[in-house]
Amino acid sequence: MQFADLQLNKSILKAIAKKNYETPTPIQIETIPLVLAKKDIIASAQTGTGKTAAFALPIIEQLIDKQDAPKKGKKIRALVISPTRELAIQLEESFRAYSSYTNLRTTVVYGGVSIEPQNDILQKGVDILIATPGRLLDLHKQEMLNLSSVETLVVDEADLLLDMGFIEDIFKINKLCPDPKQTLMFSATMPDKVVFLAKSILNNPEKVSVSPASSASKTVNQLLYYVPKPKKIELCLHLLRNTIKGEIIIFRRTKFGVDKLEKTLLSNGYKVDTIHGDKTQNAREEALNRFKNKEVSILIATDLASRGLDIKNLDAVINFDIPNVAETYVHRIGRTGRAGEVGNAYSFCSADEKSYIITIQKTMDKVITVEENHPYPLDPKAKPEVHKKAGSKHQKGRKSEASKKKKKRWY
Ligand code: AMP
Repeated sequence: MQFADLQLNKSILKAIAKKNYETPTPIQIETIPLVLAKKDIIASAQTGTGKTAAFALPIIEQLIDKQDAPKKGKKIRALVISPTRELAIQLEESFRAYSSYTNLRTTVVYGGVSIEPQNDILQKGVDILIATPGRLLDLHKQEMLNLSSVETLVVDEADLLLDMGFIEDIFKINKLCPDPKQTLMFSATMPDKVVFLAKSILNNPEKVSVSPASSASKTVNQLLYYVPKPKKIELCLHLLRNTIKGEIIIFRRTKFGVDKLEKTLLSNGYKVDTIHGDKTQNAREEALNRFKNKEVSILIATDLASRGLDIKNLDAVINFDIPNVAETYVHRIGRTGRAGEVGNAYSFCSADEKSYIITIQKTMDKVITVEENHPYPLDPKAKPEVHKKAGSKHQKGRKSEASKKKKKRWY
């Protein structure tokens, strides 16, 4: 199958060629014809599979007919909802690249920055709007945008949107758009709440699934290090000196943990930057750009950064803390080994995190290779047996996670 077989406009094919995509990925082959046939879609797809182009290309194709509308007269005809600012910015970059040979106008709006410049751009007229839910509703409340011409609504990373507590906002946004319209929902995992949302807002959807939910890319080599918690920093320094080279993202659960590790790595001479929820939007973007431009080789992040970030040639991910939600592990390691490249994921597991590892392995249906050969081993008796009954613990972990998030966002 070639892109040319997918009934896409020449200007889109030119943009794809410029991106050096040779053939469509499986999710693109499945999804593009369905979107062009105006179907609603619920798609289960990991990041890194090319899912952005799977919805962006046919949306652009559908909008292209009217691309000569005068700029002032442009109305928002495609709306993409994204959970985080970082992901929203990346979506905008993709839409802009894929529509670079058309007159379609794309913009992105998100919170944490002044609303006025976003309003100015909206007033000039855009065809495609990428938005985080809160800022979109703010703009609507202040009558700065009108969603009555939306023909296609995309809910991207639906599971994360729901984890972040945006369900009511999605219902509100759905109501602000016309009925009928085309709705496309993408989610890396399919928990019940995502299925509920899909049933509520999709109309007789086609189901697309290209890889089992919660499975990690086969091109990521995963290694597990059992280590006492206080020794994690020494293990990290040891591996950075001897084993892990190149561009690296280190994930930590808390902002505090990110800042602490940053200080230690800086004092050991590493070039490091950080992304977490306490940083301003500008500071986060600058950190990401410095990392992408290779001015720093290590980025330390909370899970805010674990979804969707597309960084070329990322060599390794380090899970300094093991996430207590299995899907989060899958997303973290999915930052490496993207689009068929080989990547490495190193996970540091202390005694109190053993149950998370059991759940992660069950979720992925894969045993992670344990690296025994390192200077800071955990007492062997403290290791868990792989694939022991873990479902109940997993559920408990997920519940406490959700309740923590309700109280305070700590990412
Ligand atoms: P996504 O899953 O949308 O985040 O895409 C992951 C990466 O795959 C991005 O770097 C895309 O530019 C790239 N990509 C998307 N479609 C293709 C394709 N057909 N061939 C090669 N790379 C692609």
